[in-house]
Amino acid sequence: LISHQPANLLPSEGVADRGFLKIQNAVLLPSSPTVAIVGGGFSGSRVAVHLLNNSATNLNVKLIERRPYVGAGIAYSTNWDCHLLNVPAGKMSAFPDIPDHFFNWLQTRSTDADKNFSRNDFVARKLYGEYVRSILAEAETNKADGVGWERLTDEAIAIEKNGRSATIHLNSGKNIQADRIILALGNFPPRDPVVADPSFYQSKRYLRFCSTPSLLASLPVEESILILGSGLSAIDAIMAMDRQGHQGKIYVVSRRGLFPQSHQPTTNSPLLFESEPLPKTTLSLFRRVRQEIESAQKKGYNWQSAKELLRHLERVVL
Ligand SMILES: Cc1cc2nc3c(=O)[nH]c(=O)nc-3n(C[C@H](O)[C@H](O)[C@H](O)COP(=O)(O)OP(=O)(O)OC[C@H]3O[C@@H](n4cnc5c(N)ncnc54)[C@H](O)[C@@H]3O)c2cc1C
Repeated sequence: LISHQPANLLPSEGVADRGFLKIQNAVLLPSSPTVAIVGGGFSGSRVAVHLLNNSATNLNVKLIERRPYVGAGIAYSTNWDCHLLNVPAGKMSAFPDIPDHFFNWLQTRSTDADKNFSRNDFVARKLYGEYVRSILAEAETNKADGVGWERLTDEAIAIEKNGRSATIHLNSGKNIQADRIILALGNFPPRDPVVADPSFYQSKRYLRFCSTPSLLASLPVEESILILGSGLSAIDAIMAMDRQGHQGKIYVVSRRGLFPQSHQPTTNSPLLFESEPLPKTTLSLFRRVRQEIESAQKKGYNWQSAKELLRHLERVVL
């Protein structure tokens, strides 16, 4: 997504290491290049933070986000306290080289309840949205004078390549010229389920993607609800409905009929993935992970410990 560039444009190692950016072959850039980031959720904001923190001069950074606020994306826009991070606070730092960054940020918050968090707690996701906004605000304030910065509340609708740069067309009718473009668009909504009569999709009783607080709040409390899928989003919806006093029956349908299992304390096995190189394909890596989990269990570790180690391998996998 971003090409190799002079040192002043290179983001900190952490970003490239974690696979957010794929560094391609070297090409010449103009003396004051413009990097446009499309999508101001977690990844886009983090890339912006790293560019602002690590560039001394001669760089223009533009962050295009269609929502009125940045940092939260889908995951961290929820208003419900019961919607928790699925990773403990001690492992959610936005800076790999400062592992306690998020945890320390939590301690600086004013309420006593927040200060009682431990590193192993699963805190509300909305706090993480605040955290991402706060690190972006800090980077904006501390950026070098020679670094240009602009935040645009707009939607990118097309990108047109012209030679070595490109034009981003925005929904407002405005255009942005950029030498490099980073797409940080997040996950797309799921597809509609296949049904015999497509007019079903227009029904007010059908919600394709129920992740926003206003949609969840609009669910009628007296009526029965059918949720397709029993993963974390289903749990989010059930908890939100419970909090708003849902009276009707809630049915959950999934292929395997399983809910996510709760977290368990983990211990990293020093032996996992140490003996040989990681497989090259997703399928072989998946099989290898299952084997590693089985062998970890035989050695007395729980499967969560082996899974936990995967988080450290994300950059290798990406
Ligand atoms: C419900 C849920 C809970 C999660 N919980 C966790 C968790 O606890 N811990 C964890 O590590 N991960 C969690 N994740 C994974 C999480 O999504 C990622 O960690 C991370 O937030 C993804 O960041 P992103 O920038 O790719 O996407 P997002 O944060 O979703 O950001 C994408 C942004 O791009 C914007 N955008 C899209 N298209 C355009 C366009 N054309 N023009 C302008 N703007 C555009 C969107 O408005 C959005 O703000 C969760 C995911 C979900 C869905």
